[in-house]
Amino acid sequence: MKPKNNKPKPNNTIRTIIFLLMVGGLAAAIIFANSSTDELEQVSFSSVIERANNGEIKDLNVDQERVEVTLQDSEEPSQFAIRDTSGTLQDQGLSPDAPVEVTFESTDDSRGLIIGLAANLLVPIAILLVLIYMFRSAQGQGNQAMSFGKSKARLYGNEKDKVLFKDIAGNENAKEDLNEVVDFLKHPEKFKDVGAKIPKGVLLVGPPGTGKTMIARAVAGEASVPYFSISGSEFVEMFVGVGASRVRDLFSKAKKNAPAIIFVDEIDAVGRKRGSGMGGGHDEREQTLNQILVEMDGFEQGQNVIVLAATNRADVLDNALLRPGRFDRRVMIGLPDRKDREAILDVHFKEKPTEKSVDIPSLAAKTAGSSGADLANIANEAAIRAARHDRKTIKNEDVVEAFEKVAIGPERKGKIMSEEDKKLTAIHEAGHAIVGHVLPESDMVHKVTIVSRGHAGGVTWFIPQNDQSYHTIGWYKDVIARIMGGRIAEEIYYGKENVTTGAGGSDLQKAAEMAREMVVTMGMGSGDLRDRVFSTEDGMMFERMVHEKTYSDETAKRIDDEVARLMKEGADRARTVIKANKSYIDKLAEALLDKETIEADEVLEIFKGAKLPTSAKL
Ligand code: ADP
Repeated sequence: MKPKNNKPKPNNTIRTIIFLLMVGGLAAAIIFANSSTDELEQVSFSSVIERANNGEIKDLNVDQERVEVTLQDSEEPSQFAIRDTSGTLQDQGLSPDAPVEVTFESTDDSRGLIIGLAANLLVPIAILLVLIYMFRSAQGQGNQAMSFGKSKARLYGNEKDKVLFKDIAGNENAKEDLNEVVDFLKHPEKFKDVGAKIPKGVLLVGPPGTGKTMIARAVAGEASVPYFSISGSEFVEMFVGVGASRVRDLFSKAKKNAPAIIFVDEIDAVGRKRGSGMGGGHDEREQTLNQILVEMDGFEQGQNVIVLAATNRADVLDNALLRPGRFDRRVMIGLPDRKDREAILDVHFKEKPTEKSVDIPSLAAKTAGSSGADLANIANEAAIRAARHDRKTIKNEDVVEAFEKVAIGPERKGKIMSEEDKKLTAIHEAGHAIVGHVLPESDMVHKVTIVSRGHAGGVTWFIPQNDQSYHTIGWYKDVIARIMGGRIAEEIYYGKENVTTGAGGSDLQKAAEMAREMVVTMGMGSGDLRDRVFSTEDGMMFERMVHEKTYSDETAKRIDDEVARLMKEGADRARTVIKANKSYIDKLAEALLDKETIEADEVLEIFKGAKLPTSAKL
């Protein structure tokens, strides 16, 4: 859809035409002034005098500098001569009896005047016009910068392709909650009659891509009211004070169009807890936030503007925003569960020609943790892949490839790997696979490949059988061990000093993150770290996140030690599993070198008989 204020301005076109006409006219005048007499043939002055005395000339037209000659039998001058200005024509030899008519009043004066004017006046005027024109068009472009106090809110409303609740798959609870808001907008009197206050602000809380923007638009669509949308980060720009004036402008626009919806995306960009950073009490964000609060408090009853704001970090929002009369309602929009993922995929594949083989339920099962936007992206990538293969319909292989591309990154078949590197990658991946396969709480192996994808040299993929809402300590530990499995396999096969960078970036980092999460936020550390959380308070300092510890340095050291212990424990368990199952690693690595990619069934086949050594048990 198009923003309303994007129409071209007809004024500009007219102005340009007038300007071009003026410049063209000037140029014509200059050319005319210069060219008017120069078609005459130049002759010598003495010959003019002589011929005039002989009666060959009918008319002499004299000005200060030159003489124009009209010959007998002619009506127009055809020659000219530069005059000798030292005396009169008689002084220069023209006989008083010569049969020639001499006129001293000459058009040359005015021509000279025009040329003079053109040179002295018109050319500077032309330059001036050009400068004015350039200045104006520069100002046109700079308009946006000049109008920084205006909100950049985009207005959508009543357009044909408006979004309705039925376009949003899943999210039933959110839709139900927001139905109330639609009702407020449509029938405010119903609520006023019983003395109910209409809410002013609703916070939509959920991870990115879960459809918060879409749902806000659907509220406007369902209620058929205009929808003003702006992102929190747009409030805060170059100049101090801009945010507040943008807020004023946005709210005044919405009030003029009431009933209306204002949607503020990323409200946490302006609405973080105040005073937590070192920016002082008067920074730009605070002014903007204050202005939002002032505007919301200023809504009169019956004004019927409802502000929907989206964030994925409700916990960092300033309490002032959440007080009654402001954003006092919260609608949670979570990541879709399996059923909702299937519904979202259905919506996005509905318009696309798919073959019967396309297995949406199995894709929905594999995509735990994906947002609606991720799923929409998979559907689109699948269609792109089909088109790139010149097909008119989407096959299941397109969908599988699209999923893998979105999840890990595109296959890089072209990347050339030496045989040695391939072997090492196969061992590394087989290490992950065997540890994950053997440890009881780890998820199932879904696929192992040594074709590099995205940044990864190879990939071993584990997919949970079911959506899991909760994870046990055992799950964390098994996952950390399987992540360490790659590096440990390298160590066992190639020796301690010959491990490669293969595990460096993502494996070790991921394992460390999980271990830290266990200790800091999940209360899963050992000893007296168990059942305690160690929060860090996020604040903004000069637009940079700072973490303020709420625990002592001594505790921080113990947390670090515990993280290191958990990683070592994971590595040790991986080592035990790998040493006990080397023959299976050899088999899988061989299969990988042969086929590059091994699917779940075949992996299960190869690993049949693999054992869990007692010392790797928890
Ligand atoms: P957010 O504002 O939460 O970041 P968006 O509303 O921008 O997410 O969602 C991005 C895209 O994801 C939407 O344009 C839509 O294509 C898709 N999407 C997300 N959730 C859903 C859903 N429940 N049903 C259908 N499409 C969805």
